[in-house]
Amino acid sequence: MEQTLSIIKPDAVSKDVIGKIITKFEDEGLKIVASKMIHLSTAEAQGFYAVHKERLFFGELVDFMCSGPVIVMVLEGENAISENRRIMGDTDPKKAAANTIRADYGTDIGSNAVHGSDSPDTAKTEIAFFFKREEICPRKDQASSQI
Ligand code: ADP
Ligand code: MG
Repeated sequence: MEQTLSIIKPDAVSKDVIGKIITKFEDEGLKIVASKMIHLSTAEAQGFYAVHKERLFFGELVDFMCSGPVIVMVLEGENAISENRRIMGDTDPKKAAANTIRADYGTDIGSNAVHGSDSPDTAKTEIAFFFKREEICPRKDQASSQI
């Protein structure tokens, strides 16, 4: 069992596809074990994306992430990190495989509907960025969940 951080970005929230995106995760076997809607401050967005601070698109990315509310979630499941990335699709929605979230709901590389952690280390850091331990509810009803 793994956990990963997912964000439904401002473009998808404003398109009213929160439910469709969550349904996709659930249909693919990932469980929501923490969730909240927040409006990121500039400092929070800069902190969350600090790894990209030298990139040319950093300012644009931060402004976009602060342009409206987002849903931050912890997803749990077998290979949740790579499964989430597969379900999301390529960073560029135009290159994303059919039926992925970014192909269905993204617009361009800047407005691509969702974020997902890219490694176990990143997942741990990103989950802790948004959630306290007691805000995460692992599915103890699942025999396979040992967390
Ligand atoms: P991913 O979100 O697929 O992990 P990256 O970590 O490389 O992709 O980039 C983080 C985010 O920065 C992307 O989701 C996208 O919103 C934005 N981004 C990446 N590359 C560009 C670019 N060339 N121009 C504008 N925004 C970009
Ligand atoms: Mg990334």
